[in-house]
Amino acid sequence: MKDLDSKLTGAKTIGIAGHVRPDGDCAGSTLGVYNYIKDNYPLCDVRLYLEPIPNIFKFLRRSEEIKSEYTDELIFDVFIALDCGDLGRLGNAAKYFENARHTICIDHHVSNQSFADENYIFPDASSTCELVYELLDKSKITREIAECLYTGIVHDTGVFQYSCTSAKTMNVAGQLMEMGIDYPKIVDDTFYTKTFNQNRILGQALLNSKLYEGGQIISCVISQEEMKKYDVLPKHLDGIVNQLRVTKDVRVALFLYENDDHTYKGSLRVNGEFDVARVAMAFGGGGHVKAAGFSIEGPAEIAVERVIAEISKYL
Ligand code: 5GP
Ligand code: MN
Repeated sequence: MKDLDSKLTGAKTIGIAGHVRPDGDCAGSTLGVYNYIKDNYPLCDVRLYLEPIPNIFKFLRRSEEIKSEYTDELIFDVFIALDCGDLGRLGNAAKYFENARHTICIDHHVSNQSFADENYIFPDASSTCELVYELLDKSKITREIAECLYTGIVHDTGVFQYSCTSAKTMNVAGQLMEMGIDYPKIVDDTFYTKTFNQNRILGQALLNSKLYEGGQIISCVISQEEMKKYDVLPKHLDGIVNQLRVTKDVRVALFLYENDDHTYKGSLRVNGEFDVARVAMAFGGGGHVKAAGFSIEGPAEIAVERVIAEISKYL
């Protein structure tokens, strides 16, 4: 696949979706593609399905048009999955993907098994937004589309900080900056700014944290009770695992939070050489070599023990 336009010509209905619990790259890449199609294919019926996105991303153009109910009965001519490593990660949108006449996947997860008819998958890319930029006709990228793509790149690179950031990433970001976007505001408002309660639960998480394997692993768990105490939702816990990761001498950071059904969502991050994608995959999850996630049964103590044991195999 060399460009997106050649895949869209003739399509009357196009569906788009990203992964469950959408993050910045997911919201940015799906809205980037959605706006591009809306702007350039006015006769096309295009629909974007995503679970509700965090409020910080609602400034992105047409975010109010996102469909978070999956009641449409429609067979799409083309369905585009973005930032999704497997069909299951599409959540309730998977049925549209499965029934579509033609499917496309644009993604950067190592765990991606190329599950679409056409796949544009580059695990070395910083973000799906970087890949979307490559596929779009540059002359049709508006300021609003640039905002979507820049936001995704900022989030998946931790503001150009993680090792997934390449010279190419910086070049793409540079091109997007030239589109007149307010980049310091995007970085501050969507990445650094935290609510008072988000900062307090970060503090709680750090107090809960423990070291394992002589300080090579750091781990902490946030319970439902703590989320209630600080009046926060899972989507407000973004960034905690990154703070754990920057603990001196730590190689692997593990963060778990309790879901409504008392299972736990796990996040893994790495310093230096270590592959957490394979650790996540051992628990049915996936992701990238240096950032991966999974879900696991409780109770918390047993879950932590199991994951630490899996990580320890490779230390
Ligand atoms: P996070 O820890 O921020 O939730 O996710 C880190 C990376 O792992 C992201 O690229 C995300 O898409 C992926 N990831 C997180 N949770 C899961 C999961 O349960 N399954 C799979 N396949 N990937 C996940
Ligand atoms: Mn991504």
